[in-house]
Amino acid sequence: MSATVYLVGAGPGNPDLLTLRAARLLERADIVFHDALVHEDTLALATRARLVAVGKRCGKLSTAQRFINKQLAEAARHHDVVVRLKGGDPMLFGRAQEEIDALHQDGVTVEIVPGISAALSASADIAQSLTQRGLSRSVVFVTPRFGPGENEHDWARAASSADTVALYMASRQAAVISAGLIAVGVPASRPAVFVENASLASRRMIATRVGDLADAATQLGGGPALLLIGNVYHDIVAAADQPLRDTAIRITA
Ligand code: SAH
Repeated sequence: MSATVYLVGAGPGNPDLLTLRAARLLERADIVFHDALVHEDTLALATRARLVAVGKRCGKLSTAQRFINKQLAEAARHHDVVVRLKGGDPMLFGRAQEEIDALHQDGVTVEIVPGISAALSASADIAQSLTQRGLSRSVVFVTPRFGPGENEHDWARAASSADTVALYMASRQAAVISAGLIAVGVPASRPAVFVENASLASRRMIATRVGDLADAATQLGGGPALLLIGNVYHDIVAAADQPLRDTAIRITA
């Protein structure tokens, strides 16, 4: 028996941001391996499936990843429809390639179903485009997290090379990010926005600046958070900087 393993994007959190293809596959799935961040209502669509949580814990990443690869290949030998459900889009910071390569090596067919990535969902939540004529015509998706053999510091150069930056897995390293960006010449006054729990009812936005990231990060509530940086966020940050004046204007008007 040789099933297909479907690497499926679960989107940023809210189940109604799932693609129709993802929803239909979940309904057909025999077994679903899912990340920790996938919403329970999304998992509930997989009515026939055995659900297997494969959330990885920091520090034991590579062992856990090898184990997941093995479990997926094994499942493909016993089931028709195997779904590997990943937060956001599988092809961005999801370690999809390791799973694809391992499955191909085992002769298993892999199909990818894209999902809405956190940066796109966060942008929708704050109604601010990542690109904007006259202000931003480049976006970089970057993470300060690094793996074996990777340069610990080159994320900052990548971040400073684009007009708008979407930083994934960054909220716990806000002080390092702030210092790293300033060291490569990014002005401390550059506008920045944390978006936590994008797409969910509990979503929050914290407007700040590159020099104040560490302070702003202390206001985060512990949900998944994305850090957006760039001059396109000028108006959002300026509005947050001047709440008193805003009120005064509203009162006199
Ligand atoms: N493949 C995913 C990213 C996985 S890395 C995607 O395409 O979105 C996990 C990181 O994604 C988190 O640390 C956080 O930075 C971001 N993230 C995921 N869900 C999020 C959400 N609902 N709101 C804000 N950031 C989110």
